[in-house]
Amino acid sequence: MTPSTQQSEVILSINPANGQVAGQVEKNSERQVERAIDLANQAHIEGTWRKMLPHERAATMRRIAAYLLEDKERLALLQMRENGKPILECLRIVDNAANAWVYYAAVLETLETEVTPPRGNYLSHTILEPFGIVAAITPWNSPLMIESYKIAPALAAGNCVLLKPSEETPQTSLELLKFAKLAGLPDHTLQVIQGTGAEVGPKLINDDRVQMITFTGGTATGRTIAKAAAERLVPCTLELGGKSPQIVFADADLDLAVDGVVKGICGAAGQSCTAGSRLLIESRIYDDFLGKLKYEMSLVRVGAPHLETTQMGPLASFKHRDRVAALVDLAREEGATVELGGFSPQGELSSGAYYAPTLLTGLSNNSRTWNEEIFGPVLCVRSFDDIEDLMRDANCGSYGLAAGIWTREFQKAWDVGRAIDAGTIWINTYEQSSLSTPFGGFKQSGIGREKAAQCLRTYSQIKSFYWGMNT
Ligand code: NAD
Repeated sequence: MTPSTQQSEVILSINPANGQVAGQVEKNSERQVERAIDLANQAHIEGTWRKMLPHERAATMRRIAAYLLEDKERLALLQMRENGKPILECLRIVDNAANAWVYYAAVLETLETEVTPPRGNYLSHTILEPFGIVAAITPWNSPLMIESYKIAPALAAGNCVLLKPSEETPQTSLELLKFAKLAGLPDHTLQVIQGTGAEVGPKLINDDRVQMITFTGGTATGRTIAKAAAERLVPCTLELGGKSPQIVFADADLDLAVDGVVKGICGAAGQSCTAGSRLLIESRIYDDFLGKLKYEMSLVRVGAPHLETTQMGPLASFKHRDRVAALVDLAREEGATVELGGFSPQGELSSGAYYAPTLLTGLSNNSRTWNEEIFGPVLCVRSFDDIEDLMRDANCGSYGLAAGIWTREFQKAWDVGRAIDAGTIWINTYEQSSLSTPFGGFKQSGIGREKAAQCLRTYSQIKSFYWGMNT
């Protein structure tokens, strides 16, 4: 039996590397959620936070970053025990989280609004106002980082935030809350709501006092949240799933491409929304490239996440590992050949939620497993002969988050990059990520953009002022 993460009044975190309890947090009742919304509302009306000057709010945010960095090793270990990511990756996640607080502090201090051209005897200009209460709902794959990417700009804009972390990784959010308090964030400006989506989600997304929703997670949940937001006519941003193609042309630097393709699917054990989970190889190099890829993927060191030599840890939970295994079984039924992997490693890894790097060929472009997100280390491969072939297979399905293009011809990279329906295009690199560059999806991979300076405006509403000059 795989361990369950749920009990009645607490949420247990289960370490996916060994199935042992990694910690527990208290679940919030519906009444407690209601109380948290009341308190956030009061905090917004009193306005201690939103009325602070930008440089004062920025100073608080920089203090949060400093606390995160001071406690980097412990936070990385905490996250590692909750979702099984290798320790080196968990350390990077803490850095990224801290960077978000520093970055949005800088954006806040340098943010400018417009004086607009008058068409009469008045002065007109804009200011930015917070929405009030923002609900931030997050997944389990990089909690501290994704939470910071949402909360830092939302708080910078002067909002109060109710953070609902994933029930799979509830602990790191409480650390963020603790540091926010130590840094001097006024009471109830940030609160954490613990519980499953089904238990606490509806109250949070349907309460009229919640004036904006920011969500990262699966597309089905995103649709539920968008419907709730539409019903109340409040804005929402959605960062959803992906099935991103990696495209390898015959003229590419093939060693570089193999490396990028392996990292693109085995990094975070494929549990990244931008995982390069479908591969299109130009047919004249198909056999050669597939051979190289199979060899390189077989060398990926799967192991305990606390070891610095580990390249791929377990999946984030036993439930999720079983889901990935079921999708690989479905691929088999759909006619896939399993070139590599397709099993849970045994021996010393048998007590964890591990799944081997897996390579599937022979899927048609209308099969479910070519089009659906598996969110594990499972790469689906097809070949292409010409651009028409390529674009059909790269753009099919409902997702449009990212794509990788490997070629030495800049014109070809540009043309294909423009033709791909995706929010991020990587050329001769993959999963390069910068806080200062917008991120988000086309099609059903999302609505809106995160990161970059403009994100602070996403959490703000514009107010226009006219000052008459006739008195
Ligand atoms: P999920 O949709 O199951 O859950 C995400 C969050 O939503 C959790 O906190 C969950 O409790 C909550 N939730 C679930 N039902 C809810 C409801 N009815 N109302 C309110 N909240 C509800 O997703 P997950 O399994 O935690 O995360 C994996 C998914 O996240 C993948 O599809 C992945 O691609 C996506 N993701 C996207 C990005 C991105 O930036 N585009 C980043 C990371 C993960």
